[in-house]
Amino acid sequence: MTVTGNLNTLYSEIIEKRSKGKGVCICPNKSSDICNFRKTKESCWWPFIGDEKSKCIIVAEAPSAGSKKGKGVHFSRLLDEVVAVPPEKRKTWDRFYFAMKDTLGYYPHFTDAVKCGVSDQRRKDKNEILHRRFTDPEIGEDRCSYYLMEEIRIVNPSLVITVGWFAKQKIEEIKEKTGVSFDHKNILHYSGQASLPVNMDDKIGIIWPHQLKEHLPKGASLPDVSKLSFFNKD
Ligand SMILES: [Zn+2]
Repeated sequence: MTVTGNLNTLYSEIIEKRSKGKGVCICPNKSSDICNFRKTKESCWWPFIGDEKSKCIIVAEAPSAGSKKGKGVHFSRLLDEVVAVPPEKRKTWDRFYFAMKDTLGYYPHFTDAVKCGVSDQRRKDKNEILHRRFTDPEIGEDRCSYYLMEEIRIVNPSLVITVGWFAKQKIEEIKEKTGVSFDHKNILHYSGQASLPVNMDDKIGIIWPHQLKEHLPKGASLPDVSKLSFFNKD
């Protein structure tokens, strides 16, 4: 079976539920008291499968955009929907994803460490929820971690890119636990939140290619660091 076929099998439950417009918690060994997913408030994860030949998985924390009050179930977007956005209209996440695609030379897979969206919480509560949804705190049993380990097993990546501390920490744990070998890069966050003297163009054109230098297509040259906007202020 192909990688795409195996991933579709892994995600079959969520694909079926989405086709009926239903929000779904895909935690294995479900018990809603642990996940406590609020289907109409938090966003439902959706598989974002890259190229069949993709050797990279990008891992973020959890789907974050929740639906506005009363709007019902909110799903993450489909790859087709993201690709359909014209380049000049791309927002932060889209610009990040296409920067990865252009840097690596193929569409990477994208996933979230925790599949049920976490929104509206204060950071401290959010962290607790993320950990609880990832691994059952009572018995230490796999919950969303099951999916992440299966995704890694199926794709057999040479590169895992993480965005943010939670994904970074969980990938380090999985790497140690499973002994699967891949290069792990935690890249500078794509949101505008990081208070660093670099802008999105710096990240796309210079910083990310340098962070991913071992994974660039053959013959690709590295951008000139002296071109960072920080060094070229009036
Ligand atoms: Zn869940």
